[in-house]
Amino acid sequence: MAENIIEIKNLSFSFGNYQALDDISFNIKKGEIVAIIGPNGSGKTTLLNIIIGNYKPQTGSVLIKKQLPKKVRQKIGYVPQKFQFDREIPITVYEFMALEKCEQDNHRPRHIKKILEQVGLKNKQKQKLGSLSGGQFQRVMIARALLHEKDILIFDEPSSGIDIVGEQTIYDLIKDINQTRKTTCLIVSHELNIVNKYADNVLCLNKKMLCYGKPETTISPQTLTELFGINAGLYHSHNHK
Ligand code: ADP
Ligand code: MG
Repeated sequence: MAENIIEIKNLSFSFGNYQALDDISFNIKKGEIVAIIGPNGSGKTTLLNIIIGNYKPQTGSVLIKKQLPKKVRQKIGYVPQKFQFDREIPITVYEFMALEKCEQDNHRPRHIKKILEQVGLKNKQKQKLGSLSGGQFQRVMIARALLHEKDILIFDEPSSGIDIVGEQTIYDLIKDINQTRKTTCLIVSHELNIVNKYADNVLCLNKKMLCYGKPETTISPQTLTELFGINAGLYHSHNHK
């Protein structure tokens, strides 16, 4: 059985007096795809920031590969929810990729081209970054995270603002990376059908941890009503695997 790569135990976190996360415990095994679902403000992005070592929890422990997040930060690729970018900046897709910090010699043009090809942007290399569609831009962000070999890739709502076809392509790409590179993937998503299709496990978060487990057993009508307050029956009837 695969070993745990992420181990979170009794984690609580507050911004000043405001408690954003309350007693979270779960483990992620190497090679898994895990989705985090929960309403706005439920602490999803905060949890990711703790996992990558940006925030230090006041209570509980977070271990990545048995070490503190800060120690293994270089082994984690992060595709943030919002990437601030001025679309007027006259930079091409290739030039943007080449800006990424250079570690070994794997930043040679050939490597960049190979990665762009992998994310389906081979013919966009010379195109201005600002002229890409939302889905294409997101794929550049993913490509940037793929320049280095990572053990864990973290995606914060990778398909928000992208149409349904673009969304499918993004998740197919994540699945492909997961399969070929054996990378553990952690994804915040609002798309329950997608979570059902791609995730090995799902964490339902609303400051507290509502549940954690396989999507087909975890995403029940009761859970969804508790989590989002929506009519979950509507979702369930469309989701027989
Ligand atoms: P989600 O990603 O699930 O929408 P967040 O993790 O971004 O939620 O935020 C969880 C809660 O913590 C929200 O109520 C948000 O307003 C608050 N919060 C997030 N970041 C900060 C911060 N830097 N300072 C103070 N409060 C914050
Ligand atoms: Mg968020």
